[in-house]
Amino acid sequence: MPARALDRFEESDATAAAQRVVDVLLPLALPGAYSYLVPPHLDVGPGDYVRVPLGPRDTIGIVWTEPRRLGAVPSGPKLRPVREKYDAPPLKDLQRRFIEWVAAYNLVPAGLVLRMCLRVPAALGDPRMQTGYRWTGIQPERLTPQRARVLELASDGLIWRASELAEAAGVTSAVVRGLVEAGALVPHHFPADRPFEVPHIQPHRGLSNEQAQAAQALRAAVAERAFSVTLLDGVTGSGKTEVYCEAIAATLAADRQVLVLLPEIALTAGFIRRLKDRFGAAPAEWHSALKSTERERVWRGVANGTAKIVLGARSALFLPFDRLGLIVVDEEHEAAFKQEEGVTYHARDMAVAYGSLGKFPVILSSATPSLESLVNVDRGRYRHVTLSARHGDAQLPSIDLIDMRSSPVERGRWISEPLVAEVVRTLQEGEQALLFLNRRGYAPLTLCRACGHRLQCPNCETWLVEHRFRRQLQCHHCGHVAPVPHVCPACNAENSLVPCGPGIERLAEEVAERFPGARIALLSSDLVRGAFLREIFRDVAERRYDIVIGTQLVAKGHHFPGLTLVGVIDADLVLGNADPRAAERTYQLLSQVAGRAGRESLPGRAFIQTYMPDHPLMRALASGDEAAFLAQEKRQREQAKMPPYGRLAALIISGRDQLETERFARELGRRVPAAKGGQVFGPSPAPIALIRGRYRFRLLVQAERDFNIQGFIAAWLNGIQPRGSLRIDIDIDPYSFL
Ligand code: ADP
Ligand code: ZN
Repeated sequence: MPARALDRFEESDATAAAQRVVDVLLPLALPGAYSYLVPPHLDVGPGDYVRVPLGPRDTIGIVWTEPRRLGAVPSGPKLRPVREKYDAPPLKDLQRRFIEWVAAYNLVPAGLVLRMCLRVPAALGDPRMQTGYRWTGIQPERLTPQRARVLELASDGLIWRASELAEAAGVTSAVVRGLVEAGALVPHHFPADRPFEVPHIQPHRGLSNEQAQAAQALRAAVAERAFSVTLLDGVTGSGKTEVYCEAIAATLAADRQVLVLLPEIALTAGFIRRLKDRFGAAPAEWHSALKSTERERVWRGVANGTAKIVLGARSALFLPFDRLGLIVVDEEHEAAFKQEEGVTYHARDMAVAYGSLGKFPVILSSATPSLESLVNVDRGRYRHVTLSARHGDAQLPSIDLIDMRSSPVERGRWISEPLVAEVVRTLQEGEQALLFLNRRGYAPLTLCRACGHRLQCPNCETWLVEHRFRRQLQCHHCGHVAPVPHVCPACNAENSLVPCGPGIERLAEEVAERFPGARIALLSSDLVRGAFLREIFRDVAERRYDIVIGTQLVAKGHHFPGLTLVGVIDADLVLGNADPRAAERTYQLLSQVAGRAGRESLPGRAFIQTYMPDHPLMRALASGDEAAFLAQEKRQREQAKMPPYGRLAALIISGRDQLETERFARELGRRVPAAKGGQVFGPSPAPIALIRGRYRFRLLVQAERDFNIQGFIAAWLNGIQPRGSLRIDIDIDPYSFL
């Protein structure tokens, strides 16, 4: 019993003058590291993974300081000892500084950032072993025909897993066990983790001139072995991936690891296969759908340096890299890099900070870079490498607007006649069409025709979305589900509930009706996932479908050779909310969607249905004048002191009781410290004023660019302890304004 042994240690050694103490950071929301005694036999240093007692339990933590002598006997509570040190390679100094930086920037306790690094505690133990069996050459005394079949297979001299052997021989596992007991088969133990393949690093020989120049610039950044940020800015299909793979190759040649960050939904089988083809080795993947054994394997491979290329969603930033030499952030403009739950952080921005701390290059890649990154180029902080042409003879799609005011649709229909005609033409040519609508489900609102009642979520201030395939109503904010009622819950009228507005399931009905015989793929995250989704993507690429109807799930990254027409059903959806980036986001999303068309030799066309054809962003999309749109967007943000010309931070105050929450928010509002260059707006009820039964109020800090917004908020909240169900969530550089 190790705990007892340690108790004895405490008794006998507690007074020894030469006691050592270390600070250990624990993966919890604590203000700092905790001190522990180091038992004499234990050799620990900064970065070591240790098990320490905390209250009645033990927890894993990281040694954060060098051990120091405990001079005088401390007057405070008695220190408890470190129980055990794990065998894993210590967390590097760089990662520890990164954790501290992320914590300070986002105003969260360092322990909560550390928690993101300790998501796979099982990986700290000994590697899992597997057992296989080999034939000894000995014939068992009793040789049944079944046993003979097994031994015949095992005579190849290789190590077999019992289940494989039984299956291949067509016998039960009892037969194999019998042979083990008879001494004919002997067990061998070996690590269960498949080793990572070693990538080949020969350069790409077929780059175009423009691509070769871009690749040269990126390789140069790698060769400097210093911090730099390069914005790789190229139209969709221009070969950005091909080009940054050259920087990956250069980094591997320098024996350093590479992290490629992608928005979770862009981490597709197709993309992984591309990297595998390029480097002759599968990259390590890191995302939420990994099995736990694979998680452990990747964690260990990253820590011991055998996983050279990691392709991951944002949380991959917190893997224990052995010697990271490059981060590529693909689709850098994506809001999905902002984590909104738990510790809020922006993975792109954290990646840049990581590069700066670790003195390595960072590449941000996008066809529609964020205004933030473009302004950093203007300011001379980021390098700019551009690719202006699509690879080969592929052309950028033409984009036309369909003015819905002059091409109205009937009630309950969403596809205008001009778009119908384009789809018909596309199908006649044997090509594929994508109809894009960024709304899951059947209808975003269900209304009672008799009394006007709207079906609302009981936990949130939101309408319930009908999902007809699943036969349920869903809240897209808290996940609440309910059956679709037969009578109106307010007035009991029968057959009075009607769907309002389109979701992609409803659009699919219209498509089936208007284009009979067309093979339709309906894609949204709630309908298909994982392996099934990958299968459908492959079938689309192989032209087994004629029309794809999809949400933003299909907007990015995919490469469908036969797709020549893109129709955007409702371009106005995302415009016009409180988000200062609404126009930019809409622009990016629509250009990405349009970019799905005509990726190979067939020319692509995109049609955008809009009621606001005169909006500057619609005009810019149609004319291809991106520069004009960006110039106007920059001007507006600069005037309004919005990011990247000013800074924002949000405080979301929430609680179960509306009055109490509002009172607390107002109290906070009154306590705002005076500061030059920063001001606070609110509190005001959040646009979604109730989520999961919690009432929400927002305070928005707006400040000059060089204003210390973290220091300001820390001073403001100093000494304030939310009580009961009240909570303050701080969001530095907010991307969501709900
Ligand atoms: P982006 O990342 O800019 O959208 P990709 O790197 O995906 O562009 O390239 C688009 C398509 O063109 C891909 O199928 C890619 O394999 C192909 N491609 C781009 N450049 C080359 C090249 N130099 N040689 C061969 N194929 C290329
Ligand atoms: Zn809800």
